[in-house]
Amino acid sequence: MWHEQAMPECENLLTGKIFSSWFPQALSMHQPQTQILIVEDEPVSRSSLVIYLESQGFAVSEAESAEAAETILSQGAIDLMLVDVNLPGKDGLRLAREQRAISDIGIILVSGRDEDVDRIVGLEIGADDYVCKPFNRRELLARIKNLLYRTGQANHAQRQLYRFERFTFDSRARRLEDPDGNTVPLTRAEFEVLFCLVTHAGQVVTRDALMGRVTHRQYGTNPRTVDVLVRRLRAKIEPDPAQPMLICTVHGEGYSFTPRVT
Ligand code: CA
Repeated sequence: MWHEQAMPECENLLTGKIFSSWFPQALSMHQPQTQILIVEDEPVSRSSLVIYLESQGFAVSEAESAEAAETILSQGAIDLMLVDVNLPGKDGLRLAREQRAISDIGIILVSGRDEDVDRIVGLEIGADDYVCKPFNRRELLARIKNLLYRTGQANHAQRQLYRFERFTFDSRARRLEDPDGNTVPLTRAEFEVLFCLVTHAGQVVTRDALMGRVTHRQYGTNPRTVDVLVRRLRAKIEPDPAQPMLICTVHGEGYSFTPRVT
């Protein structure tokens, strides 16, 4: 159950700041054994990662190419994959993008070159996080645990359909329908903010807490980003976005979602 406590600040990947650790909660997500897939064409890097992650209690599969990874992924048991961006054949970015379109598994990209970072950040890849080589294993482990915690929270959400003001919000399909049954397009970050608001209707949700729900790191960690996302959401759901009635500002604190959610 997710509470109102502010989620710990995550690192800003662009500045390389290490995030504060909150391992105890993350560790509890390890039951039953979490399945990690390592997609890496360099055998030495791959096997050392396999050994390391197995030593940390994970079940680890490995693939030397995107194509081999897809075979393993199609079996459906993987919780999280680490994908080297530079693979022979189909590259890691494409693998990540294609998987994201069909699954909710955690995806961490491993990039080897500075220019990869531009591509990762610039494209709507759908990866949850990335690390640059050479990376510190403990930092990677921390990112894995952090991501498993977040995806675990999302997966354990029991409900799927929420209704408010004649809108229908489907949290698994990540779809919002307006009163006329038309799909309201939401970006991933907008979805995450709306999901947090809808599931905490009638409560004050702080900017920090909302920021903690936004997994797309291109937004950085500036809590003001939340204001931008809320403004966009208001434009999509409020009868009059200039006079918001559904997502109300709680000055100095955050936001409150006011409709009755059923
Ligand atoms: Ca490679």
